[in-house]
Amino acid sequence: MSSENVRPVGAWALRRAVIVALLAVWGWAAASAFGQGDAAVLGLRLFLLGDYDRAFQQFGQALAKDPTRAVAVAGLAAVHLARGETQPALSSFGAAAELAPGQAWPLACLGSAQMQAGDPKAAAASYRQALTSRPEWAAVRARLAYALYCQGLTAAAMDNARTAARYGERTVAPLVQAAVMLRDGDARGALQALGGTGAAVVATAAGPAPALRMASLASALPGLETGLPTSTVLPTPAPGGVRITWPRDGSSISGRVEVQAEFDVPPAYAVVYIDDQFVSVTNASQVRMPWDTRRWPDGVHRVRVDAYDSSGRCVGRQEIQLIVANRERTGDATQAALDAALGVALAEACLPSPPPWDPPLLYAEAARVAGQPEAALDVVEHPFSCWPWHRRLREELHLACRDLGLANPSPAEILVLPRPGQVAVTFDDGPHPRITPWLLSVLAKRRVRATFFLVGQQAVQYPELVRAIVAAGHEVAVHSYTHRNMTRLAQVEIERELAQSRWAIARACGRRPTLFRPPGGHYSADVRAAAAALGFRTVFWNANICRYVARTLNGMIEGLDGDLARGGILLLHNGEDETPLIVEELLDRLRARGCELGPVGELSGVESVYVSAGGRAQVK
Ligand SMILES: [Zn+2]
Repeated sequence: MSSENVRPVGAWALRRAVIVALLAVWGWAAASAFGQGDAAVLGLRLFLLGDYDRAFQQFGQALAKDPTRAVAVAGLAAVHLARGETQPALSSFGAAAELAPGQAWPLACLGSAQMQAGDPKAAAASYRQALTSRPEWAAVRARLAYALYCQGLTAAAMDNARTAARYGERTVAPLVQAAVMLRDGDARGALQALGGTGAAVVATAAGPAPALRMASLASALPGLETGLPTSTVLPTPAPGGVRITWPRDGSSISGRVEVQAEFDVPPAYAVVYIDDQFVSVTNASQVRMPWDTRRWPDGVHRVRVDAYDSSGRCVGRQEIQLIVANRERTGDATQAALDAALGVALAEACLPSPPPWDPPLLYAEAARVAGQPEAALDVVEHPFSCWPWHRRLREELHLACRDLGLANPSPAEILVLPRPGQVAVTFDDGPHPRITPWLLSVLAKRRVRATFFLVGQQAVQYPELVRAIVAAGHEVAVHSYTHRNMTRLAQVEIERELAQSRWAIARACGRRPTLFRPPGGHYSADVRAAAAALGFRTVFWNANICRYVARTLNGMIEGLDGDLARGGILLLHNGEDETPLIVEELLDRLRARGCELGPVGELSGVESVYVSAGGRAQVK
């Protein structure tokens, strides 16, 4: 595969765009059907666009109109979830499940919130329950597989991942399959699960669902480093030992009910509040309070029990949220169908997505273990430059370089050329839209081949110039990605400059350079170590045009010619300096006195590029 394929393409973004477009039609249909715009439809559209504040308002409005509308309750919960407010999300999704009994989507939502809360066991139960009424819902089955994997139940995870894949799920199921296979030592199977080239899987990695990310599969198993937050879903704490035992938190109630609460230590007295209003007091050892909910408006209410000691100090408290739903359900079939569709769209938006580094990471590991380090390097280099602080990505990059035999090249630096009379012609910076084509024609006219140390971000901007350089027989090499002073960067940032630049050049011309020159010549032990880990040799120079910029053109030529009296490495620029004014005469003069002109790698007898060809590694 080419590294081009690694570029994340927004599969989720695409799906989201389709949903948003569908909702535009729905919104219009709903507006004509109900005489005005449906707030829940608008809320979902805003939610999918990431406008959580306005989505919350719209779902709130929908709920005010019909407090028993499950999709509006779930919409509010989804906003909570997207904001990372897990507890209210959990209880409101629970309420939505009560309001829409027998429907799969609220349970799918609940499962996702439980996943986010770090409770894969509860999540698996909710996903399973959702699947009993909709077993073909592949997106949910894939998350069930993931929740099982997180508990270490790899066989069950594998079964469900396979089923989900059969139903066409392509985002999570292949990852779970690959993770299980890798764990069992079947690297080739893992590669196959990831789709042969891995490109498709890598492409699906882009989607930021609302803020909900699953932990890295590559590290989610117990015993390994866990990406999941430690479990935050404990039973709601009951400070001071107050436990409201009925109704259940987040449930939906109607008619007459009895509020029940118990205490670890019987208090002097206990007070019951509904929405902060005093409703009852008791000095019994437990609370048994009848409540006629029909006297309260439909909608969400809070019930709180406070325990007091004999001096009147509050020693315990618990509060729960309930939905009171007494009004007759609207029997409108159109509304029900719309809400079911909205619910499914909302649930899919809430499903956790793999972090974008997971697919390339799993693929790279599988490829490396299967003895294909080249494929590993192809797939991991660009993700590493996007997330250089991801420890495992960096490890895989180093391992791929090591297995390819690129790491720790000897010699580490090229300072001089082996034979007197050799002159390596090198151009730093660029590619440059005006200077590079002109330089190429000057060199072609004289049949001189040279080395171009390119700046990665410029290679991204002018890939056709990179190809032109290679096509003319010159060497390409790395001169960092952003042309910053590398000695001022952290080790991992230096590696990123190198990897990202190499990726950019490889993407343009299909060759990975192995030669590197630090911007400004700023070099340190850190830069040296980074270059070694990624398989670069550092090239210095013996004659530098910068040394003579204050002189006349003739003075410059004299100076450089003098520095190269016995040969060596010539540093010119492929950008805005005096190079274009002197390069022709300088090359003519060197040639006239019998120098052997050429690219630095070739004259030094080292490989200047690593060519990725047809899956077979070769250093050229
Ligand atoms: Zn430079």
